[in-house]
Amino acid sequence: MTGNLQATALLVDGATLSDQVTEVLRHNVVNGVWGVGDLLPSETALASDFDVSRTVIREAVSRLKAEGMLSSRQGRGAFVASNRPRQGFAIPECDMESQRKLAQILELRMGLEIEAAAIAALRATPEARLEIQRTAEAYDQTNQSDGPAVATGVSADLEFHRAVCVATGNDYYLGLFNYLVASLRETMLAGRLQALKRGGESRDAVQEHYDIAASIAEGDAECARQRMRDHLQMSSARLLAQLKTEEDSGE
Ligand SMILES: [Zn+2]
Repeated sequence: MTGNLQATALLVDGATLSDQVTEVLRHNVVNGVWGVGDLLPSETALASDFDVSRTVIREAVSRLKAEGMLSSRQGRGAFVASNRPRQGFAIPECDMESQRKLAQILELRMGLEIEAAAIAALRATPEARLEIQRTAEAYDQTNQSDGPAVATGVSADLEFHRAVCVATGNDYYLGLFNYLVASLRETMLAGRLQALKRGGESRDAVQEHYDIAASIAEGDAECARQRMRDHLQMSSARLLAQLKTEEDSGE
């Protein structure tokens, strides 16, 4: 199966063998290397392709069975039951520890929120606009007090971004935002803690929030999109830089 070799490039450090094999098998199914109804190569063949034990293959296959992607045919091995995992989209917690994956998750967040800001500019109700302005001011307040509590600052930041997603009137935007943020929260706390240790955070983000709020209030979708893009690009860069410092100083 050439698909195995092709996908083996995805193997990354830090995951167990069975995590890695699961990832490649999932990749092959999701990307149609194996179609729905196709029989997988035998355990022995897969074990030799991946250069791992049959136990590792068995574990990976049973995980994908639990997800509903694979199924067994009596005596004939595993076949592809579905190319959509039953549990839906998910970001494993351990991904947050990889700088590369974290950068990718931040990039995904950007895609979501840039468009959310544009939709909010077109659609926000007067109440939603007020709420965006209120959360921008609340964030300003937490940044003014001396040595603000780390968690309060992160929460106030996220409340602003949540208010923008609420203003889209599209629950899927809000749902995906809440999911991403639940994954990112710990990492954001770590970044902010690091920034405070180094003598405080820049107040740039405060003004950026006000600017986004203003363009949404004016109903200027293009401007809202641009400002949200600038803000998230800068805050992602700030976060990644903060975490890098933490790694370099060996903490
Ligand atoms: Zn922000």
